[in-house]
Amino acid sequence: MLRTSRQAACVAVFSVFLGLMACGGGGGGGDGDGGGGTTTTTTTVPPGGTTTTTPGSTPTTTTTTTAVAQNPNCPDNSYSRSDYSFLYALNASQLSGHTIRWASVPVGVSAPEYPTALNAFNQWSGASGGRISFSPGSSIKVAKVVTQAYCGLASIWYNSAGRITRTDIEIAADQTNCSGGVNTVLAHEAGHALGFLGHTSSGLMHPSQGTSISGQEARFATMLYSFPPGTDINPCLTTRRRSGGYSRFDARGRRSYNFVIR
Ligand SMILES: [Zn+2]
Repeated sequence: MLRTSRQAACVAVFSVFLGLMACGGGGGGGDGDGGGGTTTTTTTVPPGGTTTTTPGSTPTTTTTTTAVAQNPNCPDNSYSRSDYSFLYALNASQLSGHTIRWASVPVGVSAPEYPTALNAFNQWSGASGGRISFSPGSSIKVAKVVTQAYCGLASIWYNSAGRITRTDIEIAADQTNCSGGVNTVLAHEAGHALGFLGHTSSGLMHPSQGTSISGQEARFATMLYSFPPGTDINPCLTTRRRSGGYSRFDARGRRSYNFVIR
């Protein structure tokens, strides 16, 4: 989470093997994909034949809007396309349309300098109906640092099979200009640690003025942790959103990626 006085867009950096660089931000509370419906054009064909066009006349056409069933290869069609687009923008876009999450829950957290950290983290447990939760452990390490550059920073390692393997979180010792107090910053960084690889335009995952978990953010966490790591959500997306070409995904998890976000 950035300091409130510093309105930078997201600062998301990938590195490791591919040396790619990208901004994971954006997302922005759904994107108008308008879940569920697709427009189709129906042409009225003359009985017994194909449509013909004669000089000076045009075929009769009618346009109808029909709700088309979502792709049967989509893992769960009960969620809207808008929800999948949000999941893609803030998570799966980093792995060619495959989801990125911790393989097992609860996820261990070590935060010796922040006795309230676990409570802050487990706001996500409440929001997701317990699909994601945190307990004492060592997978996520939280440390207090002296910096004026940010309020909190998360560095997330995951492999090409979509499994998060480690996360380090830094919390600024001086929280004077940070929105919501240290527990809000801890909960915001917990959001990154669970798989928010970007920011939202409202809610807890706003880049500098996080408040509380929004309904959209809660559905994100619930969806992400109802599918196994590396789930392909490309079939759930509209064509223009789908990933194509070279894939960062690899079911055997042979590559490792790092994503850093404030
Ligand atoms: Zn952030």
